[in-house]
Amino acid sequence: MSDAVPMVTLNNQVEIPQLGFGVFQVDPAETGDVVRQALEVGYRHIDTAEMYGNEKGVAEGISASGLERSEVWITSKINNNNHGREKTLRAFDQSLADLKIDQIDLMLIHWPLPDAGDFVGTWQALSEMYRAGRARTIGVSNFQPTHLDRLAQESDVVPVVNQIEVHPYLTQESLRAYNQRHQIATEAWSPIAQGGVLDDSVITGLAEKYDRTPAQIVLRWHVQLGSIVFPKTVTPSRMKENLDLFDFELADDDMAAVSGLNKDERTGPDPDEFNYIPD
Ligand code: NDP
Repeated sequence: MSDAVPMVTLNNQVEIPQLGFGVFQVDPAETGDVVRQALEVGYRHIDTAEMYGNEKGVAEGISASGLERSEVWITSKINNNNHGREKTLRAFDQSLADLKIDQIDLMLIHWPLPDAGDFVGTWQALSEMYRAGRARTIGVSNFQPTHLDRLAQESDVVPVVNQIEVHPYLTQESLRAYNQRHQIATEAWSPIAQGGVLDDSVITGLAEKYDRTPAQIVLRWHVQLGSIVFPKTVTPSRMKENLDLFDFELADDDMAAVSGLNKDERTGPDPDEFNYIPD
């Protein structure tokens, strides 16, 4: 078995590293250092967002790493107050300026905001940026099937990914299956439920059985489900731990035991009800 991070081929044939590094709740002032350390450890995929306020720090970290731009996958997201064609085009430009790049690997709509936003207009703007070559791929986050069905009615461009909350207490079986049927890759956010699943006795039992940490068991479960995943940590030892997933494999019954922990329990908002727009 190779220790290298596998690549996932998206629906427009672009390849994304299956394991990345998330920077939600990383202090903007520390993000440069944290991202540089993550890149030194071996991550080649950073997941940020305008909402996190740390895109400039991501740029600093990549610059400090000495890596070529083409060696690092960058995902960002259009914030909730920038829905609609004109605002999205401006926000897109600002994100690329803050990230100090001419082309982004993946730009997402952060939330659908079904009652307060305009995800169709936002998607049209992202599609223009995709066609112009300013985004290698575009996708969505926190979309439910009704939102994806609506997009499919309004646009020929199919999102490459749907980034959704997934972890052992929220396995999202039917939404992941929907994504798969529509050639949309699933990205799993809060993959260890911000630490909330690591004390579960099934997870700690498997950690003992495989001589791995609880976080490694859960992250390996995501990898074997085929999801793209980007745990966040500011702790250097955990950066290494969370990357070290590719020299062991969970048996089918152990995969089923982790999936069996599902209780449809969210740590974040319900996308059907979340309509928050910041000032
Ligand atoms: P995670 O599930 O990645 O958990 C992060 C937390 O777990 C931190 O408190 C971290 O602590 C701790 N942790 C990390 N690794 C370990 C480990 N090996 N052992 C024990 N504890 C550990 O949560 P996030 O919410 O950050 O999700 C990951 C990424 O997903 C985000 O950073 C972001 O990129 C994306 N995301 C997207 C959302 C969306 O709406 N699209 C919403 C939420 C997240 P410490 O840092 O102190 O080490």
